[in-house]
Amino acid sequence: MAESVSSSHRFDPTILREYDVRGIVGSTLHAADAHALGHAFGTIVAEGGGRRVAVGRDGRISSPEIAAATIEGLRAAGIDVLDVGGCPTPALYFAVHHLAADGGIMITGSHNPPDYNGFKMMLGTAPFFGADIQRLGEIAGTGSFATGQGAVEAAPVLDAYVARLLRDHRPGRALSVVWDCGNGATGPVITALAEALPGTHKVLYPEVDGTFPNHHPDPTVPETLEGLRAAVADAGADLGIAFDGDGDRIGVIDETGRVIWGDQLVAIYATEILAAQPGATVIADVKASQVLFDRIAELGGVPLMWRTGHSLIKTKMAETGAPLAGEMSGHLFFKDRYYGFDDAPYAAVRLLALIGASDRPVSAWRDDLPTVLNTPELRFPCAEERKFGAIAEVKAALDGRTDVSVNDIDGVRVSSEDGWWLLRASNTQDVLVARCEAQSAVALERLKDQVRDAVRAVGLDVPDF
Ligand SMILES: [Zn+2]
Repeated sequence: MAESVSSSHRFDPTILREYDVRGIVGSTLHAADAHALGHAFGTIVAEGGGRRVAVGRDGRISSPEIAAATIEGLRAAGIDVLDVGGCPTPALYFAVHHLAADGGIMITGSHNPPDYNGFKMMLGTAPFFGADIQRLGEIAGTGSFATGQGAVEAAPVLDAYVARLLRDHRPGRALSVVWDCGNGATGPVITALAEALPGTHKVLYPEVDGTFPNHHPDPTVPETLEGLRAAVADAGADLGIAFDGDGDRIGVIDETGRVIWGDQLVAIYATEILAAQPGATVIADVKASQVLFDRIAELGGVPLMWRTGHSLIKTKMAETGAPLAGEMSGHLFFKDRYYGFDDAPYAAVRLLALIGASDRPVSAWRDDLPTVLNTPELRFPCAEERKFGAIAEVKAALDGRTDVSVNDIDGVRVSSEDGWWLLRASNTQDVLVARCEAQSAVALERLKDQVRDAVRAVGLDVPDF
């Protein structure tokens, strides 16, 4: 039974990332890594005087094995494990609060292909990322683990979680909603929600299936929303709501089949939240439209542009006391009546309450925002060790320019009369990512030229876009 608690363990260096730990099962991530991760995480919790850690897992084929090894690693550090079982990521975050645990580990590959898996962690109720994650590698590498023999008990929370979601629903006009769980971990939660909510509900692909046989669960990729769009049209529904594989990101389409992007959703929620809390800070990531930041200011709020990444946004919310934040990618965070973590089923309930309280169709909420022209995300291959240096050079080249203003919170976001362009180093891939937004097609072309020039100037290839 006793594990070899003193032996060291080396992780594949690619899996310890900025916001989470993630790898390809059987290649860069094995059960032994999960054991070492649990053991190292348990060591950090024990150091801080903690004793109990909640563990949940998504519906991937490898998740039961990875979760079991993680749990054994935690126990070997003397930590008592609250085994939440299969659940979406926000339900695990909820469990940490609800059970007053000292931390949490979610086993999830999020929206990545089926052979991926990984870990999202909380220490206490704060996100665990960046230097914290590097520390896991150091503890494992030196074998300086805590030792002990923790217990494990089943800790089902889904009923309590669904009840908590429903608590913030407000009955209004009856809505017709199509939901798409994409065979991800949200299926049981959304099925229960749909039964309890007023209105007419159709739930697509609620069966949890880690092979994702119908479509990949990633609502930022418009093709994954085709089935939902068709079902909304067939049903004449008011809206469609989709989730990524672990339920921390949402995708919404209106009754006409248009996607309502993450930043547009923030603008919609901000109308309600800023009416109740005038002057509050609302945070969105650096990829979000200027339309959103302008809208927040018009509504009497304080817009704050922050770095992309769910852990970074949550940390900034805690620091500023912002009641609402969101990312283009569909992570939405409510610290208004709720805990402040990214929870897509909760965001869905809040949206239904908001729409149900008005007699306007969802498309009208979308049309409240002025139309601008955007590029999709543009990607330029760039070696890992070159990424941040290249961005620093782009920024240096902009020094002294008086015709533009530069925000360098995350890469460079360059605003001018034409609109803005963003160039930043991806934290998840060996690419620089760009995006442009303008009021007119001519202005958009000028901004695209500026991006081309900037990318060429740091010696990278510029593909057609
Ligand atoms: Zn996710």
